[in-house]
This record gives sequence, C-alpha cells and structure tokens, in this order.
Amino acid sequence: MTSPSRPAGRLTFSATADQLVLVACVFWAFSANRLFLGAALKQHGDMPVAGLALALVVMLVALHYVLIVPFAYRHTVKPLLTFLLFGTAVGTHYMRTYGVVLDPSMMNNVWRTEPVEARELLSWSLATHLLLYAALPAALLWRVRVVPQPWRRGAAIKLGGVAVALVAFAVALMPVFKPFASMMRSHKEIRYFATPLNYLWSTGAIAVRQASGATQPRRPLGLDATPGPLWAARTRPLVVVLVVGETARAANWQLNGYPRPTTPELARLPVINFSDVTSCGTNTETSLPCMFAPVGRRDYDQARIRGSESLLHLLVHAGATVHWRDNQSGCKNVCAGLPQDEVASLNPAGLCSDGRCLDEGLLAGLNERLAAARSITGRAATQLLVLHQLGSHGPAYFRRYPPAFAHFTPACENDDLQKCTREEIVNAYDNSLRYTDHVLGSLIATLQRNETDVDSALIYVSDHGESLGERNFYLHGLPWFIAPSEQKEVPMVMWLSSGMARASALDTACLRRRAAEPATHDHLFHTVLGLLDVKTAVYEPEWDLADRCRSAP
Ligand SMILES: [Zn+2]
Repeated sequence: MTSPSRPAGRLTFSATADQLVLVACVFWAFSANRLFLGAALKQHGDMPVAGLALALVVMLVALHYVLIVPFAYRHTVKPLLTFLLFGTAVGTHYMRTYGVVLDPSMMNNVWRTEPVEARELLSWSLATHLLLYAALPAALLWRVRVVPQPWRRGAAIKLGGVAVALVAFAVALMPVFKPFASMMRSHKEIRYFATPLNYLWSTGAIAVRQASGATQPRRPLGLDATPGPLWAARTRPLVVVLVVGETARAANWQLNGYPRPTTPELARLPVINFSDVTSCGTNTETSLPCMFAPVGRRDYDQARIRGSESLLHLLVHAGATVHWRDNQSGCKNVCAGLPQDEVASLNPAGLCSDGRCLDEGLLAGLNERLAAARSITGRAATQLLVLHQLGSHGPAYFRRYPPAFAHFTPACENDDLQKCTREEIVNAYDNSLRYTDHVLGSLIATLQRNETDVDSALIYVSDHGESLGERNFYLHGLPWFIAPSEQKEVPMVMWLSSGMARASALDTACLRRRAAEPATHDHLFHTVLGLLDVKTAVYEPEWDLADRCRSAP
C-alpha cells in the first residue's frame, strides 16, 4: 500500500487490487490457520519447527494469492474479499468450536442446511468472532481507495505477481518437501484445515460433482424384483416400519449398557437390540443414500450410490407399497418420485412451532393407515413405511423433546453449546434419546394394537452418531476415516409382531444371538428385502441379519 493521503481531511489508504489480495492472504495465513499450522507442525519430523512454520506460512500466502488474484480487479476486489472474509470467519468459528473440517461432505451439509437449522447454529460467540475477523477487516477494506491501473500494465503486474508467488511457493516447499509429502499422504485430512482454501475447494468439488451427476438419469435397481412365496401365503397384510433415526449414538443407549435410563420404554418391550452397529457415514447426506443401497461402506462409492435407484424403488418394482414420511431434511433422493409427506405440512396439533415438529408427529395417522391396510389386497398389501426422524439433531438438543421429557437436569437450553457445561449438554442429549425411546415405544404400542389384523415389524437405526465433547469434538460430520467411534457407532433395534415372526418362520431367539454380533448399515438393505420376502438378484443373504434365523419353508 502507498502512503496515507488525506483527501477531504479523512484518513484513507490507496492500494492496487493485487496489493489488497496480498494483505488479505497474509491476514488469513495468521488468523485463520491456527488449526492447520497446529496439526501440520505436530508432524515436523526432524525439521526445525520454526523452519517448517515459516515454509507453511509462505506456501499458504502464495497459494491463496495465486487462486484469488485472477479475480481481483478495481471493482471486484472489495466485494470478493468481503465475501471471503465472512466465509472464512464462519468456517474457522465452526472448525474451532465443533472440531469439524470443511471437506466436501461437510460443505455439502452446509450448502444444504435449511434456514431453520442455520438459525439454531447462530450464536453470540459466532457474532463476536464475525465482528473481529470479518466485519472489522472489511470496514478497513472499504476505506481503501483502489488505484486504477491501465489494463496492459495491470495484467503484466498480475502475471508477474502470480509468477513470483509460484516461485515463492516452490522455494518454501523444497526444503520441507519430505516431511510435507509424507504428512499429506498419511494425514490427508490436514489439508482440509487450510483456510479459506478448504471451503473454496470443497464447494468447487461439490459443484463439479453435481454438474456431472445431475445430467445422468438414475440407474434402475432390481428390475427383476418379484414377491417371494410368503406373499401369496399371507393371511394378513404386512406393514414394516423403518425408523431412520437421527444423530443417536450407541454409547448413550441404555439397551447397550449405558448406565442412565435413556430407553426405559424399549427396555420393557420384547425388542431385539443390535449392540454393535457401525454407520456408513458421519452425516445424513452420506449415510442416508448409503443405507438404502445394496453396497454401502464395504465398497463405498458415492457416485455409484447416488447414481442408482434405492431400496424403495426396488420394492416398488416388486409391487409393494412404500411411503416416506420426513421430519428432517428430506430423503436425499432415496424416495425420489415415490409417495412421501412431511410432518411440518401435516402440522399435527401441538407438535410443531417455527417450522420444526417433534418426532411424535411422525406417528400422526398411523392407526388409520394400519386400519386401511386391512382393505388393501394383492401385492400392495406388503408395505414399507419409512419415518425419518429429527431425533437428536444438534446442537439444540433441548428443542428435540417436549418439556415433560426434561428428565436429566440441568439440561443445556442454549443454541450455543459453548454456553453450557459438558454435563448440561449430555443431559439435553440424553433427554432427546429418551424422547426417541418414547416415540418408538408409542409406535410399537400402535402396531401391537393392530396385531390381530395386520402383521408388522419395526426396524429402528440411527444414521450416524454424535460427539459430545470427547477430545473436544462436538456434533458429527468428521470424515469417516478420522471420525471418532462416537460418530460411527449407532443404536439399532428390531421388533416383530408375533404374527409376522410366525408367518416368516423367524426364530427370534436366533435373531437375539445375531444381534450381539457386529453389524453395519450395509446389512439394512438385505435385511429389509429378507423381511419383506422380495426375490431379486441384488439380494445377498450373507448381508441379511435374519437369514440364519429363518427355518426352511
Ligand atoms: Zn443425520
């Protein structure tokens, strides 16, 4: 920047657009990369820490400069840098507060977050952080007079600047290449700490993925699906209810041995509890499509999963009735083109406010649906009803249950987890699980009431777990390979009406033994096909949790 001048008596600075970009890059290298530098410097090997630190800062500045300066001109530089200042401040706030990294799957969450959810994430600590790291620097930025340059000279300077930055990057990289390369190989996640590069890169990656994925029609799945022999033998209609839970973690599940009574109602019911279940992903965006795919985490391929129809489409090919009811952020294309409704639009009395509904709303009209099932004949009498919960979706756990379920106290009742103690956070979270327990208990009671006329089964499984402050991690969404077990181990429960167990020749004692062994989201697809007795080449019996427990027909 050139020396201050005083037109009209006010202190202003003049600078070229390129100079402003350089200043911003230096500012971010020091203010937004504490996590990146901290994580990277732990891997210094036999390099002197100071030397590696200096090299990393130079590389950060140079790389961001090369990326941003091509877009910075006299009239674009201020809006561009202002946008990046705010984006970077929001990103660093969430990285520090919740220990999340801004990789493509996290950014996918961010861009798809609904306004209601975003409102719950806003907090005073974010406001202070934004003021310091975005609003103040932006205010300074807007006081700078951007010096106009003849375009030929401007372009030459821009090119020269990029060349200098590339040389600086290479010079800084050379002496640290060995530790740096091994770090990038063994700790890939570190690159997602480099800010603002992380969210710019991740957003770009999503845009490219969507542009290429959006144009392809989804591949059909299981066009060969046909009803098994049980369909014709049935004397009653069959309704299987699949409750896709939200953010429930295995560690706090009473049925898994957690000492607090988080599932008192299920504990009194003859449910089969799967005590060792691993999720496919650590966020809804990843887990949901994966849970309804024939091959999930065991050979994970996001493009293949999203490019294909789901379990629900396959069931429709077999002639079954399917319905998706949502109380969260939608079915992520799992139910595309199929019957579906949302609790918020049903607006059941006393359960909704501000566009969010308590999970009991998922059960609205269930009794009537079961009554109507009696008059459905033919293939359509076999039904799968999916209920997508709001469950324990954070950080506002206390908004997930009605006041009567504030059993563990004091519970955190602030949208900003930082304002609460760990004990209060866990109390609120456990209360939300206790409410899920009540929803599942009420659901089973409804199925039991209709048992004489309708065979039924319930499968409950959560989409991913949650961190509640272990190693300073909160919420969920860390990349699968570095995510702690709390984010990946989920509760799963099954209940069968006696008519259903009999009609399917299922040995529940055998199922109970199977439930003590490890299971994953990969099992869900094939287990549902087995329960509904659908024949298709896609079905793999070794991934059906009940396969060993069926006596030969
Ligand atoms: Zn989720």
